[in-house]
Amino acid sequence: MIELTIAEANKGLKEKKFSSTELTQSYLDHIEKTDGTLNSYVTVTKEVALEQAKKADEKGSFENPLEGIPMNLKDIICTKDIKTTACSKILEDFTPPYNADVTQRLLDSGAVLLGKANTDQFAMGSSSESSYFGVTKNPWNTEYVAGGSSGGPAASVAADQCVFAIGTDTGGSIRQPASLCSCVGFKVSYGRVPRYGVISYASSFDTIGPLTKTMEDAALVLNVIAGKSENDSTTPDQPVPDYTNFLKEDLTGMIIGVPKEYFEGVEQETIDIINANIEVIKKLGANVIEVSLPLTKYAIPTYYLLVKSEASTNMARYDGVKYGHTADDAKELLDIYMKSRSEGFGEEVKRTIMLGTYALSAGYYDAFYLKAAKVRALMQQEFEEVFLKCDALITPTSPFPAFKIGAKTDDPLAMYAADTLTVPAGICGLPSASLPAGFSKEGLPIGMQIIANQYKEEKVIQVGHVFQKATDWHTKKPTL
Ligand code: GLN
Repeated sequence: MIELTIAEANKGLKEKKFSSTELTQSYLDHIEKTDGTLNSYVTVTKEVALEQAKKADEKGSFENPLEGIPMNLKDIICTKDIKTTACSKILEDFTPPYNADVTQRLLDSGAVLLGKANTDQFAMGSSSESSYFGVTKNPWNTEYVAGGSSGGPAASVAADQCVFAIGTDTGGSIRQPASLCSCVGFKVSYGRVPRYGVISYASSFDTIGPLTKTMEDAALVLNVIAGKSENDSTTPDQPVPDYTNFLKEDLTGMIIGVPKEYFEGVEQETIDIINANIEVIKKLGANVIEVSLPLTKYAIPTYYLLVKSEASTNMARYDGVKYGHTADDAKELLDIYMKSRSEGFGEEVKRTIMLGTYALSAGYYDAFYLKAAKVRALMQQEFEEVFLKCDALITPTSPFPAFKIGAKTDDPLAMYAADTLTVPAGICGLPSASLPAGFSKEGLPIGMQIIANQYKEEKVIQVGHVFQKATDWHTKKPTL
C-alpha cells in the first residue's frame, strides 16, 4: 500500500479497497521502522494524522485527489500548534500560532499530515548536514547524503515514508535532493505558490513546491497549492490552469533546448545518462536544439551574494527577545542579542550573516550586492531570449550524484558548487523540476532537470509526464 502514487491511492480510496486510516497507519508503521536509520522526520504527528484520516473516511467521497492522502511538510513551513523549528536551535521550541497558506490549502483539501521533515538549518545548505537534529541519510546508501536542503522530504518520498512531501527551493533545495534520492522535485515560478507562513531564507528567491513519485502527482498537488493569496503580495493575479490538462501523450511540436554550459564541469557518467535521455525525448516527438546561456558561469557568485544578503536581514528577527531561544545568563539587551544568536544559530547560518552583512555594508554594496543584482537582470534577459526559441530546457540537475556524509562539510565552496545547475532558475524565478533519470555505477540516483519560462509550469509538467510514460526510472525503489 505504501508504494502508491497519489493518483493510485485516490483510486484505491474511492473504490474502498482500503481506508485513509489504514493507509495512514501503514505509513506511521513504516516511519517507525525506518526513520531510526534515515532521520527524515523531526516530528511525527501521529494523533493529528489519524484524526484527519478518520475525518476523510467519514466524509468518504474522496472527490478531491488529495483527500485522505498522507504527506509531510518541510520543517520551515508553519503548522498551527505543531512545532516548526527550521531545524535550528534558535527555534527548537517554536510552535506557530497559525498555518502557512500552503499548510491551510493542503489541510482544506483533506490531505493527512504525517509530520514535519528534516532540512538544513533555515534551508541553508545542499546536504541536510546542517540540521540541528542530525543528518538525513540517503535511502539508496545510508553512508551518503540525501541532498538538501529538503533532504527529509526527498528521502521520505523515495523511501515510501509518505505519498508526497512539500519542500522549498531557493537555489535548488527541492530539485537537488530529489535528484540525489530519486523522486520528482518541482520548483514553481517565483510567486506561483504563496510564501505566507514559510520561514524566509531569501525573500526574492524562495519558492514552495511538491516532492512526489510522479509528474502526474506533482500536477495534482500544484492544483491545490498554487494561486494568489491576499497574504502574499508577490503572488500574481494570473489564473492557475488545471495542470492535469497537460498530462499529454507525446511531445510533438515541442522544441527542447539543451544549454551547452550546463554540461561543463559535470561528471561524465551524469553527462552520458542525460544524453541518453535526450535521445528518448527526441523519440517522443520533440525537436531538440543546442542553445547557449553564457552567463551561467556567474550564477554561483551572483546567487550566493544576493541570497546571503537577503538572508542576513531576514535573520535579524531572531534576537532572543521576540520569540525563540533566549540565552539564560544574558544580563542586558546587547548581551541577550549576542549570546542568544551565538548559541542559537549553526555554522552555515553564521557564515550567511557574515557574508551577507559584508556584501551589503557601506563601501562594498556597489561592488558586491548591486553588481550581483545587475547580473541577475542580465541572466533573466538571457533566459527570455532562449525561451523565444524553445518551450523548455533539459539539463542535468546536479553535477554529481550523492556524496559521502562529511565529504564537503569542511569546504563551503565545494558544497556551494553542488548548486551550479539549479541556482539559475532560482535567480530568475523560473519553474523547474528534477526527475529520476538513471543510476551511477555505484547505484546512486541521477536526476534530469527541466526548466521553462516564468509561469509556464505546464511545459515542465508535459515534458516530465511524457518522459515518465516512456521510462521506468521513477518506479525503482531503494532496499531499506
Ligand atoms: N544550497 C543552496 C543554499 O544554501 C540552496 C538552498 C535552498 O534552495 N534553500 O543557498
